[in-house]
This record gives sequence, structure tokens and C-alpha cells, in this order.
Amino acid sequence: MLKSGIPIGRIFGIPLRLHFSWFFIFALVTWALVASYFPDVYPNWSLTASIITGILTSLLFFGSVLLHELMHSVVAIASGIPVKSITLFIFGGVSQITEEPTNPKIELKIAIAGPLTSIILGGFFWAIFYFVPGSLEYIIAVSFWLGLINIMLGAFNLLPGFPLDGGRVLRSLLWWRTGNLRRATRWASNAGRGISFLFIFGGIWLIFQGPEWWFNGLWLAFIGWFLGNAAVGSYRQLTLQQMLQGHEVNEAMTRSCINIQPNITLDELVSEYILPTGNQCFVVVDRGNIQGLITLKEIKEIPRVKWAKKQASEVMVPLTELRQVSPHEDLARVMKMLTEEEINQLPVVEDEKIIGMISRENMLTFINLRDKLGM
Ligand SMILES: [Zn+2]
Repeated sequence: MLKSGIPIGRIFGIPLRLHFSWFFIFALVTWALVASYFPDVYPNWSLTASIITGILTSLLFFGSVLLHELMHSVVAIASGIPVKSITLFIFGGVSQITEEPTNPKIELKIAIAGPLTSIILGGFFWAIFYFVPGSLEYIIAVSFWLGLINIMLGAFNLLPGFPLDGGRVLRSLLWWRTGNLRRATRWASNAGRGISFLFIFGGIWLIFQGPEWWFNGLWLAFIGWFLGNAAVGSYRQLTLQQMLQGHEVNEAMTRSCINIQPNITLDELVSEYILPTGNQCFVVVDRGNIQGLITLKEIKEIPRVKWAKKQASEVMVPLTELRQVSPHEDLARVMKMLTEEEINQLPVVEDEKIIGMISRENMLTFINLRDKLGM
């Protein structure tokens, strides 16, 4: 979900991105401030004053979220773990930290850095609120709200359910005690699911508390649902990574890639090569030279009515654009590569020859088979 986003620059060398859902939450927060919060607390403000203060407050709020994420990333980088990007989206921010921490102490430090930043920031805004003279009404309004929201943000993230920051803290402590990352992740994810159910039920309960509550209820349930999915998803991913680790590409790859001519049409390819055999991987070869690869993905991207005219050479991914893996590459690394780059399969190359393909499905089948055989 969060792979896409508009790049908006870099901080400390980390690319920053805005996911499209960010604009929705930005508008929502601004609207809630301008239409409801400011008029309630400061009925004497003009609409223009409310709008300007509202937008400024929203911007500072998102600056606060960014700082929270930035501190996770800075601590990660200082611990030797690269950070790929920071994306702001509907539920706040997410740092794409590319590797699992190597020990529980590092994970604890990375996890706690964010909420701690939010709480300190909240204290900072409340200090402004407290010390600024009462005549500076706009500054008072903005700093009070930002103090409150940052402390809420810090507290929410400290809830002990994985993959929230608090859940990561819990996981690191369990990992520290048991020495078993997978078990620690399972427990922390279960806590995350528990919290997600509480949110969903709490949200549904709120919806029935009267018309002024339904939106908050819906929002709470929505957050709960998202959290539950993330808890299950991140546990599954870790399990998958661990099951693949230590195995090589040649144990799971498809070896039967079929050579085809560059001028064959997609219609012919589908009716003569794919449907009768179930084969899904084709190497386009012209006079003994490999030109590129075609998989089902490339075919699906072409509308069916054009299949009779399009030739393999027009649709293939050229060899020069393909990343390749060696048959001895670790499967866990390949899975990560596929996930991060959002590709489905990679050619396996040895001595400059394509000897097969490795796909997500190959790896899942590999794990399933081993699981069935009790390996
Ligand atoms: Zn965080």
C-alpha cells in the first residue's frame, strides 16, 4: 500500500514521500480545526483567522509526525541499519527500515525513539502554551492543540501491540528474555490483534452512542482494522523470511523456461505455449541471443483485443532492464528484493545463461511442500 507516494525531498539523505491518503487526512484535520475546534473555543475569531491558523496548525502537526519518524530513522541509521524512505500517510508516518534489527537492544532503541520524541514535543508545545502571555491568543490555541495531539500520538504509539512502536518495545523485551525472535514476534503480534479488536469493538460501540460520535467511532474501528491487518501481515512476513533463510534459489526455481521467437504473437504464445502446458516463463531468443523475458504479467498488461497483433519482442522485458540473481543467492534475500521492488519474478543467471526463473509463487510452493513433508 505504501510503496507509492509523491517524493518531496530528503532529510539526512532519507527520501521523504507523501502517500495520496495523506492529503485526505491533512484536509480532515484542517477542516476539524477550522469548522469545529477553533469556533468552539474561540468564537470571536474571524473565519479567515480560523482558516490560516488551521492550516498552520495542520502543517505543524504533520511536521511533528515527520519528526517522530525521523527519530526512528536516525537511531536506526546510527545503529547501522539503513532506512529506505519515510512515507507520510493517512495514519501518520512509516519509516521503511529495510532490515530487521540484529539484536533486541537495537530494536528497543529504534522503537522507543519515536514516541519519546512525540511526548517531548508535546511537552515543548505545552511549555509554550503555559509561558506565552494570554494576549497572544493564536499562539496559545495552536500550542495547546499541538501539545495535546503530540502527547496523544506518543501514548497511542506506545500501546503494546506489534507493529505499533509499543509492540516493538514489547517484542524486543520478549526477544531479549527468550532469545527467540519468532516467538517474540508471535506474542507481540497477538497483542497487536487484541488491541485491534478492542479498537474495532470500541469504535462500533461509539457509533451507537449518538450522531455526534459516529465519525469518531468509524475512525477508531478503521484504525483497529488497519492495525489488525498490519499485525498479521508483519508476523507472516517475518515467518516467511525465516523459513526461506539458508535456502538457495536453485532449490525453488522453475527450470523449465521455454525459448520462443521474437516475432511470435501473444495469441500464439497463449494458445500454443501457455494454456496447453501451464508454463509461465518464456525467454525470447533471436538467433541464439537472449533478448528478454515474458511472463504472465507482461501479457496481462496488454488488452486482449491486441493479442493477435502484438509480438513477443514488443511486450518482453528487455534483458538489459532485468535484475538477475545467481542460483546460489539466499531465498530470503530474493523474497525481500521482490517485495521491495514490487516485481513478481527474476531470471536466474549462471555463466551468462538464463537457467531458470524464481518467483514469489515458487518460494511459497517450496515452503508449503516442505511444511507438508514435515521438513
Ligand atoms: Zn513510531
